[in-house]
Amino acid sequence: MLQYETLNEYRALMYARKLKDMFGKNAQLVCREIGDGNLNLVFQITDKLSGTSIIVKQALTYARVVGESWPLTLDRARIESQALIIQHSICPGFVPKVYHYDPIMAVTVMEDLSNYLIMRKGLAARKRYPHFARHLGVYLARTLYLTSDFALPSQVKKKKAAQFTNPEMCKISEDLIFTDPYFNSETNQFNPLAAERIEEIWNNNPLKLEVAKLKAGFLTHAEALIHGDLHTGSIMVSEEGTKVIDPEFSFYGPVGFDIGVVFGNLLLSFVSHGGHTQDAPERNYQAYLLATIEQIWGYFEQTFRELWEKESKERMTIVPGLLDSYLLHVLEDCAGYAGCEMIRRIIGLAHVSDLESIADPNLRAEGEKLALSIGQKLVLERRQIQDIKDVTCRVSEIA
Ligand code: ADP
Ligand code: MG
Ligand code: MG
Ligand code: MG
Repeated sequence: MLQYETLNEYRALMYARKLKDMFGKNAQLVCREIGDGNLNLVFQITDKLSGTSIIVKQALTYARVVGESWPLTLDRARIESQALIIQHSICPGFVPKVYHYDPIMAVTVMEDLSNYLIMRKGLAARKRYPHFARHLGVYLARTLYLTSDFALPSQVKKKKAAQFTNPEMCKISEDLIFTDPYFNSETNQFNPLAAERIEEIWNNNPLKLEVAKLKAGFLTHAEALIHGDLHTGSIMVSEEGTKVIDPEFSFYGPVGFDIGVVFGNLLLSFVSHGGHTQDAPERNYQAYLLATIEQIWGYFEQTFRELWEKESKERMTIVPGLLDSYLLHVLEDCAGYAGCEMIRRIIGLAHVSDLESIADPNLRAEGEKLALSIGQKLVLERRQIQDIKDVTCRVSEIA
């Protein structure tokens, strides 16, 4: 293709047919659009003859949820494919393989993971995934540590960071996560039954000050190549495996952000179950979610410490105390960003299906207000947090 054109099922099929080394000559291709995301088109193309399948993901020139009035950079397809390639080289088991990237069409062709389920859906069904915490903890430690100044020569890291500044996508996060929810902004969308509680947040200057500090960290702390949008809709799971998709918001940012967004989304699931079931054994799922948060952190920390021992290139990493102090800084950031993620998903533009699927608006408001209280507590008290139990205890205290 010499020029960008938006794909549809027919064009995506023709596009796939022309890809080298993907399908045999006699392939009988069928195509389905399966994207449920906010921004892009996702096609699954299958050869009925061999059963082989691939995913063709195309960035649109505008945000799919809002329409053409919200233009978006096509460069996010480059960011996504490059981040996937780096993350796959670091964690081959936990990231889809990229087969092809097309800068003109803003297309990434990748491994089809249709035998995995989007984790948010699994959490809604109160499924338990025995390996998930270990997989995600290892993914986080490896992708974050191995792209940081601790593992890379500083000139190499700076060059990599320059490829991943991602200004347009970062601006979306800066506005939608850290700014708009704290004012009566046009982009906000919230349940009127939570309005009183939300006005309290708009008037809470100590909270806004702490969020402003977290935003400053998001803007300036180029610690590692982060995923940038690691909510439970960017994680696919099965009984055996875990895959992280959709890193179009990747940039060099604070390590605690990815971990915090995952925890924030697990906690958004946590607050939603009260609106879905009153059955006590079913509600035990909340304890599973808190245990999962503790385990993710445990595996993250363990793997990060091992990498520090074995893979450090930075001479100062031998100084006693640096590792402990860095991990404490990450945990503090992680609590803060988890809180920001919870608050923005209640007040801001993009909500989560965990809560949106509660039909009774009164019941939904209960879950939403609980999310705001937990989020606020994590932001305000993050400096008192010494270990991961200090996070989960704070949740149990108010839930
Ligand atoms: P967006 O950037 O628009 O959010 P995503 O990358 O999150 O797009 O993909 C949207 C949906 O498409 C996912 O929720 C998932 O259902 C499906 N999907 C995306 N990538 C794959 C893949 N590699 N294999 C199978 N399904 C996928
Ligand atoms: Mg997505
Ligand atoms: Mg999605
Ligand atoms: Mg996306």
